[in-house]
Amino acid sequence: MSEQRKTLDERYTMTELERLRHSCAHVLASAILRIWPQAQFAAGPPVENGFYYDLEIDHRISLDDFERIEAEMKKIVKENQPFEKIEVSREQAFAMAREGRLGALGPREQPSKFKLDILEHIPEGEAISLYRNGDFTDLCAGPHVMRTGNIGAFKLTSVASAYYKGDANNPQLQRVYGTAFKNRTELDAYFAQLEEAKKRDHRKLGRELGLFQIDEQVGQGLILWKPKGAVIRQQLQNFIGQELRKHGYSEVFTPHIAKLDLFRTSGHYPYYRESQFPPLIEPEALRHLADEGCSCAQLANLLEKGELDGYLLKPMNCPMHIKIYASELRSYRDLPVRLSEFGTVYRWEQSGELGGMTRVRGFTQDDGHLFCTEEQLSAELRQCLELGLNVLRVLGLNQFRARIGLRDPDSSKYVGTPAQWDKAEVALKQIAVQSKISFTEEEGEAAFYGPKIDFIVKDVIGREWQLGTIQVDYNLPERFDLTYIDSDNTPKRPVMIHRAPFGSLERFCGVLIEHFAGAFPLWLAPEQVRILPISDKHLTYGRQILSLLKAANIRASLDESSDKIGAKIRLAQLEKVPYMLVLGAREEQAGEVAVRSRLRGDEGAVSAPHFLERIQQEITDRKLD
Ligand SMILES: [Zn+2]
Ligand SMILES: [Zn+2]
Repeated sequence: MSEQRKTLDERYTMTELERLRHSCAHVLASAILRIWPQAQFAAGPPVENGFYYDLEIDHRISLDDFERIEAEMKKIVKENQPFEKIEVSREQAFAMAREGRLGALGPREQPSKFKLDILEHIPEGEAISLYRNGDFTDLCAGPHVMRTGNIGAFKLTSVASAYYKGDANNPQLQRVYGTAFKNRTELDAYFAQLEEAKKRDHRKLGRELGLFQIDEQVGQGLILWKPKGAVIRQQLQNFIGQELRKHGYSEVFTPHIAKLDLFRTSGHYPYYRESQFPPLIEPEALRHLADEGCSCAQLANLLEKGELDGYLLKPMNCPMHIKIYASELRSYRDLPVRLSEFGTVYRWEQSGELGGMTRVRGFTQDDGHLFCTEEQLSAELRQCLELGLNVLRVLGLNQFRARIGLRDPDSSKYVGTPAQWDKAEVALKQIAVQSKISFTEEEGEAAFYGPKIDFIVKDVIGREWQLGTIQVDYNLPERFDLTYIDSDNTPKRPVMIHRAPFGSLERFCGVLIEHFAGAFPLWLAPEQVRILPISDKHLTYGRQILSLLKAANIRASLDESSDKIGAKIRLAQLEKVPYMLVLGAREEQAGEVAVRSRLRGDEGAVSAPHFLERIQQEITDRKLD
């Protein structure tokens, strides 16, 4: 097969699983050709979670065809055909393509047109290889598994249309997707995980549990936090805020807009214009321009060149925190200065990319900026990492890895001196080792202004989520000419750290909804306790219990409906309320409550104060279940 042109290196770095899936794409093509010998194949690379192959035939492939195609594929796997690599000259390859023999079972009337095109784009002098399994020959650089029999288990998953080479000017092809694994068990586990992921989808649960809303009239990618969702967010903010204060942060608030000039100094404008909402212009200035007959094109031009002032919805909080730092004369004794803010920022995302809480146009970062001396950098980075890891542990997100982005040693695009970089990079690696998390180092993945760590967290069902980051910055202190007075009375430049361990509260909550499948632990649950009287006779007792819980700041409610107790329990269970208190004659007489846990079912009767004490402890401990 021929994939979108990757370098040879990239192709040879296919993982074992990618190689298997890639080989399965060949098997798919062989099978399709047994049914539709005239099929013209284009590209078929492995992709995340599987593979695809693009092809052109007269027949419109549908899910109904999958059984037939899979049956042929099974035969080919069973035949255990070896994958054979054949080196050919450029001329031989072209000759075969013209005879229709590439991506085919043999010579055909029509040339292999897409393969011809791909061949034409292979630079002169680059080695060309074909791969053969059974009668099927394809243009391909490999690599593959040894034999078709090595493909343990596979399944076709969907079919879509795709333009050849992703270009709308090119013919539209059919793209058949599938996935493959070493064995049946892994394939089944994968589909089970997909099923589970569907049930946990935060868009679905967010709607069902009344946590958040996206309203077309408000705008795509803009989250409305409903009361229950707001409780979760507020609890998270309280918790993170507490941790931040322990770590010596000072909380600040900054506005949602600032003058363009600020973002020009920071470099966020106009360089990242594509990912920002267009600037806001002062009414006076706008009227003046209109009077002068300024056209839209002229206006855009003025803004771009910076000859007009205006405001920008902030895409970042950093420049404002920098201004707070710079608002006072700082001495080395004041450092480190640690500023934090749940700061809401706005980015322009293409509407096609928006979905639920994980991709949005307005979001609140758990942002923080640290200003410190070179000597303090390592300790501050360690503290940032610990803070992030601690919060993840409390939430039961116990599996994470870090990706350390280092500079490309051959590039000169970086600001800061090599000595500064060495120090920061060594510090990042050291703290990753010391905190015993698994991490990878990736050269060339640093920002131009400094090295960084990105967090990748695995949820309960094994999916990976990229959350926040810790970044060292040598650039902004320079741009804003930040200083502190050192012990020798000379002004020095502080180093800056940006850190947002969770990226954004929206994204983080989205991940948490899926992680907990909507069943939030007691301390986060929007409704912690629901009181369920067996009949109206016990409503008064129910109200007493309710006021007892409310006085203790427990988020409780009383089910006053005339439903049967079974129905009341089912509803509370469905709404994932951690504790239910069932009240009948016996409980009322004894001054007790019959406790029912969402997870463990009936837990027996205890006195109301006893129950209260117990859940208060669970809340303080932030117990997970
Ligand atoms: Zn191949
Ligand atoms: Zn920042």
